[in-house]
Amino acid sequence: MRRVSTDRGKTAEVIMDPCPALPTPAGGLPVATVVLKPKRARPFFGRHPWVLDSAIERVDGDPAAGDVVDLATHEGRFVGRGLFNPHSRLRVRLYAFDAAVPLDDGLWRARLEAALALRHRLGLDAPDGAARLVNSEGDDLSGLVVDRYGEWLCVQVTALAMAARLESLCDILASLVPARGILLRGAERGLAGLEGLHLPDRVVRGQAPEGPVFVREGGLRYGIDLTEGQKTGFYLDQRDNRTAAARHAGGRRVLDMFCYSGGFGLTAAAAGAQSVLAVDSSSRATALAAANAELNGLSTVTVETADAFEHLATLAGSGARYGMVILDPPKFARSRATVADALRAYHRINRLAVEILDPGAMLVTCSCSGAVGREEFLTMLAGVAQQARRTIQLLEVRGAAADHPVSASCLDGEYLTCVIARIP
Ligand code: SAH
Repeated sequence: MRRVSTDRGKTAEVIMDPCPALPTPAGGLPVATVVLKPKRARPFFGRHPWVLDSAIERVDGDPAAGDVVDLATHEGRFVGRGLFNPHSRLRVRLYAFDAAVPLDDGLWRARLEAALALRHRLGLDAPDGAARLVNSEGDDLSGLVVDRYGEWLCVQVTALAMAARLESLCDILASLVPARGILLRGAERGLAGLEGLHLPDRVVRGQAPEGPVFVREGGLRYGIDLTEGQKTGFYLDQRDNRTAAARHAGGRRVLDMFCYSGGFGLTAAAAGAQSVLAVDSSSRATALAAANAELNGLSTVTVETADAFEHLATLAGSGARYGMVILDPPKFARSRATVADALRAYHRINRLAVEILDPGAMLVTCSCSGAVGREEFLTMLAGVAQQARRTIQLLEVRGAAADHPVSASCLDGEYLTCVIARIP
């Protein structure tokens, strides 16, 4: 077993045992019917793709892990077609709502083509660019995430049924996107465990890059470590938020707290910030941020390795003042059960940030905890305003960039909030 950094600074255990034997998926037609309990079909007629075991009355047939099944109402009416996982509470993931559509390679190819066409429309296919090509439910491919970093693709699989089809999905991807290598990166710890899925990181096609991969975003270059970096290597979801925040950075002293490889701080520096202090508790992250600042010749950026809570308190105590503070912490709430604690932690860092802001300064504050609703996050900010006796003027409340689409039928895919606010 070894530990790798994955989601927002947390580490996950990747079990290095060989992949469990998975069945060869059949021709895309159902081998069994999953029958819902009475009155439980509504969300699925609404195209929600996750069928929990608690909604299921019985299974007619004997499907294996990854097999195609039909979902039917208690009365026997067709609802949707999906893939079965006996090891997960999320027993069926639905991929089609038309009984004429087989879940075969033709369907996966069509879905991948549609996902790529969207990124093309979004202008995200510059050869040295980076983009999320597939965003799970948001692209009707529940359990599959694909990021492109220049000529490399990083695939994350969070569904057993997608893991069973990994080889053919990668064949299709390789035929659609010219790539020097396709790398499989471990999924977030909790998710992988819930699916009964243990996939070691590996090179699935081609080769792994020998050193960092260099990509361009917002006119800046970043070196990205695809094999050891956080997430699949870079926080692509914040791309547009970095640019939106940087619009306010000109002439200001900027503090980029939780900087990772420096995205927010470097974009602010390039937009004319007077100075940027980028802070992260991980020395690997601050080394990346420093290297990226140097790569772009941004001499106004300094980097420090420190704990955000302690460092903010020290700055507040020392009377330091900033014209812009950016807070992009890791996920504080992993589930609804920890939302109250998470909100307290968000309150604390935002309270400290407001304390070191000059009148008229900017606060850019983010939450990537899907369990914390946007309203709750804004209410937390109202609490900060009350305690600090400062007005918080919301200029923009933003989500993830458009290459991270969310299905209206599955709002569980919406996790990122980025508030751009002014503190008069
Ligand atoms: N803003 C970054 C992404 C931040 S991800 C970007 O745009 O790329 C969250 C970061 O918080 C991670 O790099 C993680 O190392 C760091 N982190 C986690 N806990 C921390 C703490 N207590 N103090 C400072 N940094 C922390």
